[in-house]
Amino acid sequence: MQNASNINVKRNVLLNPGPSTTTDSVKMAQVVPDICPREKEFAGLMKGLREDLVRIVHGDTDTYTSVLFCGSGTLNIDVCINSLLPADSKVLVINNGAYSTRAVEICEYYGLPHIDLKFPVDQRPDLAKVEETLKNNPDIKLVHTTHNETGTGILNPIREIGALAHKYGAVFTVDTTSTYAMRPINIAEDNIDFCMASAQKGLMAMTGLSFVVGNREIIERSKDFPRRSYYCNLYLQYEYFEKTGEMHFTPPVQTVYATIEAIKEYWAEGEEAKWARHTRVFNAINDGLDRLGFRQVIKPEERAGLVSSAIYPDDPNWSFEKVHDYCYERGFTIYPGKISTTNTFRLCALGAIDESDIRDFFEVFEEALKVNNVTVPVIYKEG
Ligand SMILES: *Cc1c(COP(=O)(O)O)cnc(C)c1O
Repeated sequence: MQNASNINVKRNVLLNPGPSTTTDSVKMAQVVPDICPREKEFAGLMKGLREDLVRIVHGDTDTYTSVLFCGSGTLNIDVCINSLLPADSKVLVINNGAYSTRAVEICEYYGLPHIDLKFPVDQRPDLAKVEETLKNNPDIKLVHTTHNETGTGILNPIREIGALAHKYGAVFTVDTTSTYAMRPINIAEDNIDFCMASAQKGLMAMTGLSFVVGNREIIERSKDFPRRSYYCNLYLQYEYFEKTGEMHFTPPVQTVYATIEAIKEYWAEGEEAKWARHTRVFNAINDGLDRLGFRQVIKPEERAGLVSSAIYPDDPNWSFEKVHDYCYERGFTIYPGKISTTNTFRLCALGAIDESDIRDFFEVFEEALKVNNVTVPVIYKEG
């Protein structure tokens, strides 16, 4: 994974939930001769890239396709929701965290009829309630949820939710931004109609390229659905790709080169070995947190295996900012949480890192606690 290219760029270990640490070869892949992306040479690259993005989730390239956009991952949620809802129907968002809340906000911004089916952020959705909602609202035609709620790290039961969506005749869109190319996904077996990600997370490439992988037939059907956006319409972008092999508007050229290199490295590492590496990193993070006495938000058996959400200790000397800055100056980036009710910080197992990086991190992290006079193991008021 690490490589012998002769550039000399400082290596940072990013423990934030994306963008992730990249290899030097992915960084270097961006340095290419200037090219107009309307040249045939570039369109040829896009074709292979689109097919690889489908293969990563084990999709058959006749049934499934990928549609690429220039933007960050939130754009995919926007595209799916605004493009895939037929007239006179409703969206159901199964919401137990910050990223599903973002989907609800998208519904609100477009003025789309929707049901925000809320569950506590530290719990999996209750499938009986999901089914009851679908049964009572036959106008739900789009069900959306998040695979790994990156705000907490909880794993949602997408296969079961997808089966329910299909039983009641709805399309199932899943935000897989923080699992794609890490935790193995099988688009058909997982009952997913559309999943999504951006190049800077599981693929370990650069920011600026996002993509939806989904069912071709449903995209074609959506041609006649109400058009609610121009730049972010799924069918319009798909149709342009099918006709020309290119993005409708200027693609993020250098990020495309980096992504192609990252996918080459993805196949070389292998799905299983890569997931085993992320799991090693995740276990090392949890061991380190446990050793220092940190409590976490999500029960071990419900974690998606990529994001740890640790609760701030009840110590007057604890300061996330001070600990963050100490670690940051030494090449390790930690990240605040995204839960309104509890103060948390996150450590994530994304990126081109391994166990040894986590061991190095915890040495620095423990030093950061000690220089700030935080009691170790950390203390909490209530048992
Ligand atoms: C990172 C992420 C996104 C995209 O966030 P951006 O800030 O737009 O990059 C969307 N969904 C999930 C679950 C994510 O982890």
